[in-house]
Amino acid sequence: MRRKIVAANWKMNLDIIEAAEWLGEVGAQVHEGSCEVLVFPSFVMITDLMDMYQGEHIVFGAQNCSHKESGAYTGEVSATQLASIGIEYVIIGHSERREYFSETNEMLREKMEVAIKSGLTPVFCCGEPLQVRNENKQKEFVKQQLEETLFGFSGAAVAEMIIAYEPVWAIGTGLNATAQQAQEMHAFIRHEIAGKYSLDIAAQVSIIYGGSCKPDNAKELFNCADVDGGLIGGASLNANDFLAIIKVASL
Ligand code: PEP
Repeated sequence: MRRKIVAANWKMNLDIIEAAEWLGEVGAQVHEGSCEVLVFPSFVMITDLMDMYQGEHIVFGAQNCSHKESGAYTGEVSATQLASIGIEYVIIGHSERREYFSETNEMLREKMEVAIKSGLTPVFCCGEPLQVRNENKQKEFVKQQLEETLFGFSGAAVAEMIIAYEPVWAIGTGLNATAQQAQEMHAFIRHEIAGKYSLDIAAQVSIIYGGSCKPDNAKELFNCADVDGGLIGGASLNANDFLAIIKVASL
């Protein structure tokens, strides 16, 4: 279902003390009227944080899951294991996983499959690197990511997912996409989903933007017709910055 979402991707940052402080500050100010707030801590602290959090308005997710269902895969964490501890969301296809851990569109399709089978909602990340943007081939690039990972799933499954458009050149660089660039790509993704499934499915899917989103640019990005909120990396580590972004999305 389409809704306003602000999600914190902490990556491999914050220890349990820092995370608990963050949760105390953010948790105290996220309430019923807020947009949907998701937090993606490292695996090791998710259950502790879930136990600590007394409220109902922050939902926890995992930053990754294995593409395998279970078995002899040392160091991996399965979608079923995540679901068994009450996790609802999992990020799949973040550009850092694609780049540093060689995750291909095909492997990501397998991850989506096990995640959906386990009842998790994928936050599927897509987006083009700088060279592709410079060649003005970003739409073809993102279309291929959608086709090879997403479009094998049912319309009902896609309608429930969150798609995060994250241009790689904007992640962690301080250089965000302009509102026009973000809107153009979000509208394109929705158009492709409408073409593959239906206008109705396209109207239901939430498409959020990620890439150097901060309190001072969140408003113009979130005001775009097809931008349903943000996946926030760096700025999510600071409770005040993250709260300021939530405030913008909740207007
Ligand atoms: C991210 O890693 O998903 C992200 C959007 O990072 P940042 O906000 O730091 O660019």
